[in-house]
Amino acid sequence: MTSPAMTISSTVRRAADPSPILAAEELPPTQHFIGGQFTGGTGSETQSLVDPGSEETICEVPQGTAEDVDAAVLAAVEAKEAWGRTLPKQRAEILLAIADRLAENADLLARLEARNTGKPLMVAEDDITNSIDTFRFMAGAARATTSIAAGEYAQDHLSVIIREPLGVVGVVTPWNYPLLMAAWKIAPILAAGNTIVLKPSEQTPLTTLKFAELTRDLLPAGVFNVVTGLGPIVGARLAEHPKVDMIALTGSVNSGRAVARAASETVKRVHLELGGKAPVVIFDDADLAAAAESLRAAGYWNSGQECGAGCRVLVHESVAEKFTGLLVEQVGSLVVGESTAGADVELGPMISKAHYERVLGHLERAQADGAKAAVGGGAMEGPGYFIAPTVLVDVPEGAACSLEEIFGPVVTVETFTTEEEALTRANEVPYGLAASVWTLNAQRSHDVASRLDAGTVWVNSHLVLANEMPWAGFKSSGYGRDLSAYSLDDYSRTKHVMHNKAR
Ligand code: NAD
Repeated sequence: MTSPAMTISSTVRRAADPSPILAAEELPPTQHFIGGQFTGGTGSETQSLVDPGSEETICEVPQGTAEDVDAAVLAAVEAKEAWGRTLPKQRAEILLAIADRLAENADLLARLEARNTGKPLMVAEDDITNSIDTFRFMAGAARATTSIAAGEYAQDHLSVIIREPLGVVGVVTPWNYPLLMAAWKIAPILAAGNTIVLKPSEQTPLTTLKFAELTRDLLPAGVFNVVTGLGPIVGARLAEHPKVDMIALTGSVNSGRAVARAASETVKRVHLELGGKAPVVIFDDADLAAAAESLRAAGYWNSGQECGAGCRVLVHESVAEKFTGLLVEQVGSLVVGESTAGADVELGPMISKAHYERVLGHLERAQADGAKAAVGGGAMEGPGYFIAPTVLVDVPEGAACSLEEIFGPVVTVETFTTEEEALTRANEVPYGLAASVWTLNAQRSHDVASRLDAGTVWVNSHLVLANEMPWAGFKSSGYGRDLSAYSLDDYSRTKHVMHNKAR
């Protein structure tokens, strides 16, 4: 736990009406979903789900076994041929029907997500809106795929490229955006003609189970299956299963390594969306007020439990003091509270007690390393796993807080002198998911953006996403693209068929 010096007395906005955001009958069936049916599975262990804002237990969910995974994979194998043969138009119509069904239930899904994760309603609503649009985009993209033109590339031989589904794709999702990260996988994987076995995070399976319940009459049995449970049991079995053709994981680097190791035995494809530590490079000619305002959201959205969060500021020394003042002002006015405490609540709790203690451990270590909290710096009052939005300054070069993923409401501010130094330091993190550059000089912004080692680089912005554009990391942030038409490529295989037409 945090030392007394790190604890600040800031209060958490509590809901005026203490009744839960969700009625018990609005919960999904708390069972696995296999072959179109909810089932208790073969195990006897359960996992308690806890509302991180109130620390109340919500319900129990089964911890799946390897046998449950095998049953789900069998269902997905049995469904794959018929689903793979459907026309893009048919799959697109089903994806659009799923989008409509999610839209009809958007309020319920947002409240369910808020209840399970503790996130503010405005964040949960944004998750659901984007999940719906992911299905709509993939419905269109499935019907507009592009490829190398068919033609004669060798004498008298006509070449044709055929895009085929992979078969069964195993999916493992994290807790930070439970339905949104599931949608980023489900929509392109189904659009490309594959069937799915999905393991949600053991902490946040509720919206994924609700998705199964809501779309049960729209998808043929076995096309979409869910097995709840722990990563090293359910996720590991999916990764090693000989009948799973690809494993796609969004999660931490350690889980990515474990999945890639397990997948290597069957040489299955691996798709990894892992952690991040996005640098924010601010030059002396930048619009400092705009940068500070943008980081209010980009550094603290979802309480900083965001892989693309702008959490590692590198600001030119000549404007550092002014920028830090503006940022501290923005961060000091963030509204922290329970998800039901008002539409203006911007920050919720950490997802779990373990993660809360992990983030507090990072803050303690940062202080021991010499960093100072210009605002925030520690735990807020309970119940709930709330941590004050924090800006760390006087960060010694190489300090862990500026290099490791904290995954909480913590932004570090460091200074640089030259552009070369800024680039070297921005690229020294092991991750390569996202970065931003702030300058009004167009030549500099183009050049610096091209030299930043990250899959997404924003210029004078941060954390703005579009379903049409890819989201994919470099270096330890993994490989494989989410979103965009590129994800359809990742979830397909291309076959070259060559016809001898000599006569
Ligand atoms: P986590 O790695 O602890 O868990 C992610 C999932 O992996 C969970 O479902 C978990 O049960 C499973 N898992 C754990 N060990 C496994 C194993 N040995 N085999 C198979 N599955 C296993 O991550 P988390 O704490 O849920 O999520 C936070 C992490 O996710 C952060 O590092 C964050 O940056 C990353 N993330 C990345 C993106 C992205 O797009 N790159 C998006 C969201 C989150």
